[in-house]
Amino acid sequence: MTTDVAVIGGGVSGLATAYDLHCRGHKVTVLERQAHAGGSAFSERLDGFLMEHGPSTMNAHVPVAGQISSELDLDSLRCELGAGVRNRYLVSRGKLAAIPMGPLGLLTAGYLSPVAKLRILADLLLPQRSDGEDETVMDFCSRRFGKEFAERVIDPMIAGIYGGRASELSVAAIFPKLVALEEKYGSVSLGAMHRRREGGKMPGSRLFSWRDGIATLPRTLAYRLGDKIRRGVAVRRISPCHNGFNIDLGNRGRLHAKSVVVATQAHVAARLIGEIDPRAAAAAGRIHAPPLAVVFLGFPRRNVAHPLDGLGFLTSEAEHRNVLGAQFSSTMFPGRAPDGQVAVSAYIGGARAPHLARLAAPELIRLVRSEFKDLLGAEGEPTIARVRHWPVGLPQYEPGHREIIGDLGTAGDRVEGLFLTGNYFAGPSVAVCLNTARKTALAAHGYLERARGLQTRQAASR
Ligand SMILES: Cc1cc2nc3c(=O)[nH]c(=O)nc-3n(C[C@H](O)[C@H](O)[C@H](O)COP(=O)(O)OP(=O)(O)OC[C@H]3O[C@@H](n4cnc5c(N)ncnc54)[C@H](O)[C@@H]3O)c2cc1C
Repeated sequence: MTTDVAVIGGGVSGLATAYDLHCRGHKVTVLERQAHAGGSAFSERLDGFLMEHGPSTMNAHVPVAGQISSELDLDSLRCELGAGVRNRYLVSRGKLAAIPMGPLGLLTAGYLSPVAKLRILADLLLPQRSDGEDETVMDFCSRRFGKEFAERVIDPMIAGIYGGRASELSVAAIFPKLVALEEKYGSVSLGAMHRRREGGKMPGSRLFSWRDGIATLPRTLAYRLGDKIRRGVAVRRISPCHNGFNIDLGNRGRLHAKSVVVATQAHVAARLIGEIDPRAAAAAGRIHAPPLAVVFLGFPRRNVAHPLDGLGFLTSEAEHRNVLGAQFSSTMFPGRAPDGQVAVSAYIGGARAPHLARLAAPELIRLVRSEFKDLLGAEGEPTIARVRHWPVGLPQYEPGHREIIGDLGTAGDRVEGLFLTGNYFAGPSVAVCLNTARKTALAAHGYLERARGLQTRQAASR
């Protein structure tokens, strides 16, 4: 069999790349190891509840998120955050502290000490660092805004988004805009004010989903791609051949492709491209992705004392909790729990406590029930309790990540027709993966067009 582009991996990144190339008229084949497409974007209806096994929100601040919803005719199924989302919560000395939504929420809430609030303002006056060295998020935020803010606000946020530790991740890879503001204006806050005055946007998030959950997106992309997706096919090896690549599909045969997009997790990419681009393979192999577990619990509303009037809560490492955080799923979006019930999802493990993510389901449920009893006043047996283990969780953008991406991004210069895409390039959120996928599709399209032009010219000269 032969195809123009083989896309290896049918998660959001692979499906979005394939769909874009398909719309541009290329013959595309998606090869997905599992029986269903979508990768970590998987939503499941369970007795009137809706469990998100992986992502639960789309960030509308990334324009492609809203664009793709419209392009795929999904706007009528779209749901915005519920009116009940009034706060974010951070755990403080064993209790939930409410931080009102909005930019000044942290300054008006009593979560940070008065000294810490004043220290945030010192960013306006402090000299800039000029050695250009990559710093950790913790070092950068402590230096600019103070240690208390970094430890009690930024670290929980990093745990919530990356399953990571602020003291281990690269600020240049995660918050390049903040680094650029310090470089240009000497202060992040001053730079943000300038940017706002010039009409520029600062990074932020406005969250949405669809009625049947995030998997609506990969399900629709897969439906549009139809028989161009081959499910239950694990790629074993990619080797170069005349006019493209041979792709070894084990007992499912072989596929010849003019071009290949590797859209798997980084550690799989490292294995698959080892023979054709050892440099990129070594770079991908350096990306860690510690395990994560999701524990989804439903309770009768009357059995939970907390009003659950927010997005959920996050914990800082200093609090020594077993969960990184939790989402109040049934407050965030409609249809996540039957009438009279609530649904809360807890996230466990990541770089902070990888061993916890490997615990068996009954132990994880026991652990989360105890945390929810303590923090939310959730009493009695849950109506529903489900666990999803992710042995390979989210990619950690550690110091040196920019160099890794440098080596990965130039794979196509060393091996014509080879492209890589996924959540380890520009950010792990689904919306950013879509953005990265669009760029990958454009690059692959350019390559295929050039190759087609060359073939036509060669045929004409014969
Ligand atoms: C618990 C959790 C919560 C999250 N929450 C959010 C959130 O709320 N909002 C948000 O925006 N993002 C969130 N994310 C991040 C986001 O879900 C992921 O970064 C994104 O979905 C990654 O998509 P992907 O296609 O790049 O990778 P994946 O989804 O990992 O897809 C890779 C695909 O490659 C396939 N594959 C692997 N090996 C092979 C092979 N040899 N041959 C063929 N196929 C192969 C896999 O089966 C898989 O389908 C969360 C992630 C997790 C795990």
